[in-house]
Amino acid sequence: MHPPEESVVNGSQAAKASAKDLPSVDRLLKQPDVAALIAEHGHTLLARCCREVIDRARAAALAGSLSVAGVQPGRLAARVADAVQTRLAPRMRAVLNLTGTVIHTNLGRALLAESALDDLLRIMACPNNLEYDLAAGGRGDRDSLIEELVCDITGAEAATVVNNNAAAVLLTLAALGRGREVIVSRGELVEIGGAFRMPDVMAAAGATLVEVGTTNRTHPHDYERAITPGTALLMKVHTSNYMVQGFTAAVDEAQLAEIAQRHGVPLASDLGAGSLVDLAAYGLPREPTPQEKLAAGCDVVTFSGDKLLGGPQAGLIVGRKQAISTIRKFPMKRALRLSKLPLAALEATLRLYLRPERLARDLPTLRLLTRSQEDILSMANRLLQDVQDAVAPRFIVDVQSTLGQIGSGSLPVERLPSGALAISPVEKSGRGRALDALADALRELPLPVIGRIADDRLWLDLRCLERAELLTDQLPQLKEALA
Ligand SMILES: *Cc1c(COP(=O)(O)O)cnc(C)c1O
Repeated sequence: MHPPEESVVNGSQAAKASAKDLPSVDRLLKQPDVAALIAEHGHTLLARCCREVIDRARAAALAGSLSVAGVQPGRLAARVADAVQTRLAPRMRAVLNLTGTVIHTNLGRALLAESALDDLLRIMACPNNLEYDLAAGGRGDRDSLIEELVCDITGAEAATVVNNNAAAVLLTLAALGRGREVIVSRGELVEIGGAFRMPDVMAAAGATLVEVGTTNRTHPHDYERAITPGTALLMKVHTSNYMVQGFTAAVDEAQLAEIAQRHGVPLASDLGAGSLVDLAAYGLPREPTPQEKLAAGCDVVTFSGDKLLGGPQAGLIVGRKQAISTIRKFPMKRALRLSKLPLAALEATLRLYLRPERLARDLPTLRLLTRSQEDILSMANRLLQDVQDAVAPRFIVDVQSTLGQIGSGSLPVERLPSGALAISPVEKSGRGRALDALADALRELPLPVIGRIADDRLWLDLRCLERAELLTDQLPQLKEALA
């Protein structure tokens, strides 16, 4: 955004300016172009930007790198205009996810459906019935806005919702297990990433973790023997981001539910992604659903709103009336509750599930996941020449089959057959640097393009590119950046 201060690199002939030659901030504020900016943005922002520009010029003067031209008021005013643009530009920006990972945690996970965005805008611009019962004309409960819908879709008796699934797990453990014992298989003590590790969450919730079985094998009698009068909960955790293979055994929810019922202890299951539809019906790898875990006899099931569900960040807690009621009344719920913004987006997303025949069209996550490799490859072939022209002559581009992934820890082993534009440097030497420079140029575009470098190429997986012009419209700028 800021070109370097006027430099005097070749400039024995270019005269240097000194700090004394710079105008004061007050004088710069009176320069006509700056005055026009004050009329638009106000004095506060402009005073700050003028100070910033003068400070930078003074530092350049002290370093002996400020030219006489660089102290002219018109030149300084142009820098002030740049500084205003930079300061006002949003730090949170839209990007093009061409990484091949559909639900990318670093890139904001699920995309909201168009209809959810419409609802969100409409409702957030007005007061709303977040906690107001329109039928009775009195105080209402925000959970009631989505509870019926969630129960309808999952078959649960009751449901509540919090900030994210980590909060859902924490709240469930605290409400049902605080001060008592929670039994979990050693094979399921997962770390989700960041600071979310099951044993730590257990400790934070004030529950005592009782590990049973071994890393690879846990049997029904392991749970059975660990149950004592101090047992509050049996807990099952979906090993969403890794897989234990080989000589393994685990106890499923149906078997655990039988044990739990016999001992009068509730059973909770943390699903992580928790798809609300059977992905196998869409030709995708299977992922457990809350429906089947509830049918198997779980008292509580927790899952994320912004993974396979395809909505905003949220944590859904579904299950039996009594358990959900205890969870909802627990004081920590207030600290973890969902705000009106994601709540509106979640409701609109859940409503899409009422029309399952249209889901693969209406829900962006499912639409992207079900996009055929053939379709993606044909798009890659259509874009090949334009992209080749933009990156020539230093790079060559070809269309390649590739494997993407669902992401967000869902189905870590399964891969999605996809198609990509693979860009390779022509020169053998310095390939790593050339690829890094290309990746930088792509990220510096107005709509930053995020690809993936592997096997001496930069891969642009086109699965998540639904509107080709978002890429092609930027190719002239890319060409210029690479020139
Ligand atoms: C992703 C995940 C979580 C955390 O969910 P967030 O919505 O990211 O807070 C918890 N448990 C499992 C098994 C997960 O996969």
